[in-house]
Amino acid sequence: MSEAHPANPSTFDPAVGVRVGHGYDLHRLEPLAPKGAGRALVVGGVRLDSDCGPVAHSDGDALLHAITDAILGALSMPDIGQLFPDTDPRHAGEDSSVYVVEAARRAKELGWRIGNLDATVILERPKIGPHKMAMRERIARMLGVDVGSVNVKGKTHEGVGALGEGRAIEVHVVAMLVRA
Ligand code: MG
Repeated sequence: MSEAHPANPSTFDPAVGVRVGHGYDLHRLEPLAPKGAGRALVVGGVRLDSDCGPVAHSDGDALLHAITDAILGALSMPDIGQLFPDTDPRHAGEDSSVYVVEAARRAKELGWRIGNLDATVILERPKIGPHKMAMRERIARMLGVDVGSVNVKGKTHEGVGALGEGRAIEVHVVAMLVRA
């Protein structure tokens, strides 16, 4: 037996009390305008001091984009690019917390809550270690969960390839939703 929700064409097996979602994002990094096309570097809602930043339509917060896609993915919903097209001028420079809040709202609407999520941010510089707790707190607030339900890990790319040369930021997220 499965159940369909009017807001979602997917069906959920009622015997399964958890849903897992994966989110991934990458943004090219360029020198900040006017030297390049980079926006200020914001990761997990926290502004980092950097002379490079993401090239993006929205604020380019790759961590929040990957979290949004992990939650939407767990719900078998259309992804962030489909829900918030980068061709839509309304999303230009938008604070990406809007996407996370909307994904969490949809999860709640469908009878799910965030169990926990775990993120890995791959960024050569600056180091995100000193900012991890601030990111976790910001994200937890967006999702309406305890900070213990949100984890952020930072990695470099050991100088290898575009990531290692500081030309991109990459994020992987796994999210678990549980029945509300
Ligand atoms: Mg993105």
